[in-house]
Amino acid sequence: MNKDIGMTQALLFHCAGPEGPAMFKSLCKQLEHKAPDIEPRLWPEVGNPDEVRYAAVWLPPDGFFEPLTKLAAVLALSAGVERLLDDPHLPAHLPVIRLEDAGMGELMAEYVLYGVLHAHRQFPQLVANAATAHWGRDCPGNAAKAFHIGILGAGVLGQQVAMRLVKNGYTPTCWSRTNRSLPEGIGHCHGDEALLDLARNSQVLVCLLPLTTATRNILDKELFNVMPAGGFVINAARGEHLVDRDLIAAISRGALAGALLDVFREEPLPAEHPFWAESRIIVTPHIAAPSQPTATAAQVVDSIVKLEHGQQPGGLVNRELGY
Ligand code: NDP
Repeated sequence: MNKDIGMTQALLFHCAGPEGPAMFKSLCKQLEHKAPDIEPRLWPEVGNPDEVRYAAVWLPPDGFFEPLTKLAAVLALSAGVERLLDDPHLPAHLPVIRLEDAGMGELMAEYVLYGVLHAHRQFPQLVANAATAHWGRDCPGNAAKAFHIGILGAGVLGQQVAMRLVKNGYTPTCWSRTNRSLPEGIGHCHGDEALLDLARNSQVLVCLLPLTTATRNILDKELFNVMPAGGFVINAARGEHLVDRDLIAAISRGALAGALLDVFREEPLPAEHPFWAESRIIVTPHIAAPSQPTATAAQVVDSIVKLEHGQQPGGLVNRELGY
């Protein structure tokens, strides 16, 4: 990697989330120990843009990359990178490194487990009964192993979620683009032709896909129509995976029992959006698995050290595939 000898090398940090200050603090501390030659800078204090060799970002403002013509790599402070890749000022050749797990897997596993238990033990119906003081004992539970869960995505998060469900007695099946070998207890299928069959056999469908042209609008009526009656949808990936009106229609006519949604096309979810008014949909404000400051900083610094030594860090995004 080319460096201008004798020139200061800087990392420019920008994080739009509330975890930004803690993350930057941790990053400064860890850089000091592991890569003291790299000077951390907090946007908008760019200094001399020609000295900025790395950018660590979550939702950078428009034009952020324009003056940074000497960048060697961009480190995303997130697992999903679709908005970053859409930035017109991000040079096409630049390596983009995303977060892999960094503490998010455990949180995501808890979030999905909550949703699965909610659906499995028929809480949408129990909550509706309670709202009308109805003592309904007609919500039988069946064994976890007979309650089928399809997970769209067999990546870092999909696998962790699946493993947690296995520990809780479920037999999840993950779906991916390519063939993969997954840990024992997790079923697997891959390719477009396998998707409808998976939906047909899934009482809960969980979306943990990256947002790409191939996965946009993937949670639609075609899937909802073939899911078993009383099915449940969990979307913790991106709002654009879900066709909102198809979900509302499937729940309204009783084909689906409900949904747990963490991500939306517009965030914050507008007050007038029909999801808020549908009691069988649980809305959470994109909190399923927030980036963890210390683990995120550790992964960013580890990637920089590897790049500085000419090694390839984990989480390198395939810019053609979009993830
Ligand atoms: P990974 O890249 O590790 O995994 C992605 C998985 O999706 C892979 O198994 C991949 O298949 C599969 N996939 C991609 N495209 C397709 C396709 N066209 N058809 C079938 N399968 C496909 O991502 P992560 O698990 O780290 O993260 C997943 C997403 O979760 C992120 O992109 C982000 O949007 C979201 N997220 C949400 C958070 C929240 O708080 N709500 C927090 C963190 C992440 P293959 O294995 O064959 O490549």
